[in-house]
Amino acid sequence: MKLAGKWFICIASLLMGHISCAQVSFGNIALKGVTIIDAKHRVPLARQVVLIQGKFISDIFTDGSKAIPDSFTVINLTGKYLLPGLIDTHVHMATDPSGVDNRAHTLSSLEQMLYSGITTVRDMAGDARTLAGLSRDAMTGDIISPDIYYSALMAGPAFFNDPRTHTSARGAVAGKMPYMLGVTDSTDMTLAMAEAKGTGATGIKLYAYLPADIVRKIVLEANKQGMIVWGHAWLEPAKPTDMVNAGVSSISHAPLMVYDKLDSIPYAWKHQTHTPQFWDSVTPDLSRLFELMKQHHTILDATLLTYKQAGEHSLAWQCSYELGKRITAKAYQAGVTICAGTDDDQVEFVQSELNCLVKEAGLTPIDAIIAVTLNGARALQIDKQYGTIEPGKTADLLVLDKNPLQDIGNITSVNFVLKDGKVYKK
Ligand SMILES: [Zn+2]
Repeated sequence: MKLAGKWFICIASLLMGHISCAQVSFGNIALKGVTIIDAKHRVPLARQVVLIQGKFISDIFTDGSKAIPDSFTVINLTGKYLLPGLIDTHVHMATDPSGVDNRAHTLSSLEQMLYSGITTVRDMAGDARTLAGLSRDAMTGDIISPDIYYSALMAGPAFFNDPRTHTSARGAVAGKMPYMLGVTDSTDMTLAMAEAKGTGATGIKLYAYLPADIVRKIVLEANKQGMIVWGHAWLEPAKPTDMVNAGVSSISHAPLMVYDKLDSIPYAWKHQTHTPQFWDSVTPDLSRLFELMKQHHTILDATLLTYKQAGEHSLAWQCSYELGKRITAKAYQAGVTICAGTDDDQVEFVQSELNCLVKEAGLTPIDAIIAVTLNGARALQIDKQYGTIEPGKTADLLVLDKNPLQDIGNITSVNFVLKDGKVYKK
């Protein structure tokens, strides 16, 4: 065991809080005495030693069962909890890079996210030119940021009247960009998919005005070219069931799942206050859809937080929130895989989504933790390398002072964060 010299000074300063904001690379490190909580350890595994060599976890064993090699710097984490780094499956970091998503603001948000424990995000549509740069800088460590995976958007041509698509395609034409493309029956899908992939996106986001046959065509070509397909629950005319049958990997926004059963939401739902019993009685039975999602391993990206926030100011959004939390609860009870995405412009982070999932949709704290770790990695199809704490996986980890299984709010009791084996401590 090596616990001397400059590393000791660094670690002592870091862990005692003498460095206010730091990014430190220790080389080989041993996290000693920690309690592991992840999808593989639903019951916490206490007194563990986790060895990290470079950016990877190299070994895990019970403290005292074997020696820690001399070449490892030891960080004593007795009484602390170790989780995989958190994954927010729904952010928008570059809808308008010339305005609200300007570089300074975005870099500040990304930095805060990483220090809070978020090591990966999935961007669900924006200016892919900007996202390519941010993603590259996050990967190289040139910026302090979670890893950024992003999407290329496909929708019916009518969608590109939406002003958000214009700011994301600034300088060019929305609907005719490789990452912001209007698709019809006559689209050359092989070329469109290759161009989407060429933007650096790893997935296609389906947004609106797409019929089921085009959804199938997109998924078929995406499968051939190694792209994932992520759907917005309201596609019109395609229904969520059509998306699941086509093989879409994840579907975003729980409230919009009602469109599997309804063509539109009744006016009175959105413009009057209602009792909880009312919402219980009108929320459609989606059990067949949930059964289908289970068969196809389709993931629900519930995004409750954004509806909760908007619902505080508007009856229409409150309607969405009331439906969304009930639908998420039913999906969870049915055994649908749920991931954790915010979609809230980073005012609050994914830790607040976990609060909603536990307090409003009935997830147990461990299932909320699995949603924000392993299930997020599954949505991105990076679960072979991320999402649990296992030898061979990348050392993207979160150290907490308090037990998040006792209270999911303890997810914010961050001691420090590791990304690619490097320590980040605020
Ligand atoms: Zn979104």
